[in-house]
Amino acid sequence: MRDDDGVGLAGRTALVTGGASGIGAAVARELAAEGAHVLVCDLDADGAAAVAAEIGGEPWAVDLSDTAALASLSLQADVVVNNAGIQHVSPVEEFPPERFALILRLMLEAPFLLARAALPHMYEQGWGRLVHISSAHGLRASAYKSAYVSAKHGLEGLSKVIALEGADRGVTSNCVNPGYVRTPLVERQVSDQARVHGLSEEEVLSQVMLKNSAIKRLLEPSEVARAVSYLCSPAASFVTGSNIVLDGGWSAR
Ligand code: NAD
Repeated sequence: MRDDDGVGLAGRTALVTGGASGIGAAVARELAAEGAHVLVCDLDADGAAAVAAEIGGEPWAVDLSDTAALASLSLQADVVVNNAGIQHVSPVEEFPPERFALILRLMLEAPFLLARAALPHMYEQGWGRLVHISSAHGLRASAYKSAYVSAKHGLEGLSKVIALEGADRGVTSNCVNPGYVRTPLVERQVSDQARVHGLSEEEVLSQVMLKNSAIKRLLEPSEVARAVSYLCSPAASFVTGSNIVLDGGWSAR
């Protein structure tokens, strides 16, 4: 087993999915600053290449919803951050079934397949960190987000199962649960929700998105990234099957 008492992630390889944008890009930057060699994985090849070039990492352009292509993968990654995600806002009775299936493949099946691909290497060396970017909606539901809420609730279960299986082999698995973060995904949601609720974009922010948050602001991607690096640090070696909830007090209500 490798010595876990050092500082940072020097010598470690970290895979970050959805690393071209928003939270994933912030996580890639944070883990690189901690010394990791980062594989920046994204559907957006140019975006992944740009972030990888900025941090001295490596881009991996791939469509993670093409799960058949991931089934035979083997990964030599010490850290896997499952972050790539999309959103679709629609009532259940109007929700396009193919969109529901796509979201489940990208946000639940791909994390399972990437964990499956990386765990043999992690078990062999007796150290590994899986961090899943879930959501406040992984713990609570929200109307009109059936696929997203289902995928995130499933990811919570997957994380706990991996935590139990990896506990005596040096592998931890945890979820980070952000509230609304200032990213392109949220900017798109504001306009989608304005349409669904018949509100202005300002009203969506104050009356829908931040209504239940005690701290009345959007979270910054860098704040999520710091929670991820904590979960990869020696200080978190006893934290597994758990959650870091960054919801500004929403769940305290
Ligand atoms: P974002 O849209 O800024 O970034 C998502 C990234 O995923 C993009 O770079 C996109 O190209 C990539 N991606 C999308 N489909 C892909 C595919 N098929 N294959 C590979 N990559 C693909 O979004 P974000 O806000 O940074 O969200 C990242 C994660 O954080 C998501 O899982 C989201 O559910 C979660 N989250 C976001 C918020 C928020 O408020 N922004 C809150 C809670 C949880």
